[in-house]
Amino acid sequence: MTDLPSPSDRPQSAKSDNFAYFRPVLFTIGVSGLAMGALLLSHRSHPEIASAPPVAPRMPPPPVTAFVLPDPEPVPPLSMAEFRDGKPLALGLQGFQMKPQEPTADAEPAASDIYELTLRLEKGDTIEKMLADIDVAEADRKEIAGKLQSLLKKRRLATGETIDLTMQTLPDQPDAPRVLSLSVRPQPEREYIVTRKDDGSYDADEKTYKVSPRIVRVEAERSGSLQQSGVKAGAPSAAMVEFVRALSYDVDFQRELKEGQKFTVLLEQLVTSDGKVTHPGRLLAGELKLMKRTVTVIRFRPQGGAEGFYNPQGENVVRSFLRTPMDASRITSRFGMREHPILGFSALHAGVDFGAPTGTPILAAGAGRVVAAGPNAGYGLYVKLQHTNDVATAYAHMSRIGPGIKPGVSVRQGQVIGFVGSTGQSTGPHLHYEFHRNGRQVNPLTQKFAMRGAVQGKDAARFQTLARQYVAQMKNAPAVSDLNAKTAPKKTSQARQEPATSQIAKSD
Ligand SMILES: [Zn+2]
Repeated sequence: MTDLPSPSDRPQSAKSDNFAYFRPVLFTIGVSGLAMGALLLSHRSHPEIASAPPVAPRMPPPPVTAFVLPDPEPVPPLSMAEFRDGKPLALGLQGFQMKPQEPTADAEPAASDIYELTLRLEKGDTIEKMLADIDVAEADRKEIAGKLQSLLKKRRLATGETIDLTMQTLPDQPDAPRVLSLSVRPQPEREYIVTRKDDGSYDADEKTYKVSPRIVRVEAERSGSLQQSGVKAGAPSAAMVEFVRALSYDVDFQRELKEGQKFTVLLEQLVTSDGKVTHPGRLLAGELKLMKRTVTVIRFRPQGGAEGFYNPQGENVVRSFLRTPMDASRITSRFGMREHPILGFSALHAGVDFGAPTGTPILAAGAGRVVAAGPNAGYGLYVKLQHTNDVATAYAHMSRIGPGIKPGVSVRQGQVIGFVGSTGQSTGPHLHYEFHRNGRQVNPLTQKFAMRGAVQGKDAARFQTLARQYVAQMKNAPAVSDLNAKTAPKKTSQARQEPATSQIAKSD
């Protein structure tokens, strides 16, 4: 071949390589336009470098040392384009049958050298092409590629797939490195390995890794959006979206959320037996510290029910409507037929009356849109909210209507829409509350979907155990940041300590 540094050159010979680099360049420029032609031709066949200046001497090439990766994992894989940078010159010069440079005096004949390489499959690349690019002998690369394909069967390796190689150069064949092993891991739980045997032939093997759950926690401070703060701290975006949604029924994000508030999410990751994370984590529980309270959500699946988030008291976080549209109130008249206190005859009482002092704030029972706000005959000062196409709520006898409440505006659940009074046909301060379904008044207290679902019966004990466990784990489970710091520099991690997590995977 040539005296160009081959990718397999050792770092200790880098100094002489740099020198050697310029020789063929000068040679090419000085001697022959033919070489130039060959160069351009070869450039054309390498579209990814076609735009590079044809004979610009490359500066001392970092690739020479970069190829030798003592620890290929954390280093971004080398692209094949980088790799081929040195090649066109070599090809161009091949036409002149340049003799391989004999090892010079200063280049010690090194003992056979074993080193590791990490390469990435580029678009249109094959294992065989890739091995040809690093000067692996044809018979070897055919056999390796064939063996690997027999493992992969019909599957194809994706562009960008990382290939780990253990290479060896022998002192007497510095330009024909051997592949001692090639491994690729298209899925975290599956690795395909081709290894060289003593007789020079290759063996293929498939290695599978057991995947098991691992509980981790992410602790962070809110800075900007809650979701982004979590993602920055190492929680998967999907888990943070779930967390925010679970909190949203209970937390008024506009008023209660402040910068610097601490939160913790508990995640269940899936990890292979050698420590590769195959799933970044599903939200098990989360906790947000507000100014005056801490809101905790716990994932739970009741027997025969759908999975959801619950507060530590076992109530589902999802509630469509407040049970009572006021704090501190008592029911003074229920829904149904009754003697009308003012008109004096029997009629349907189409709502529920809550007795409360004048001026007590009335809260929107659910998120919705104001469709009426103002005087409404016997109802007095009246507000009606439309929540869904078929569900509306109405509030009557107000002393005054809440700030900003007028037809067309949206309200949040729990927002103050007015104040208790005794306007219209009323005997004293109270709220008359109606629940409308498909345009007809129904009993608000019997609307099951209007209440929070709670964990009941046999589920209750199971839930309490799980909730206690999650709350404890939000303080003492391994932190994702610690795990990342620990595993990053190691390629082959020691048998990692498996946290006792299996019971969690089953229990919920
Ligand atoms: Zn009433």
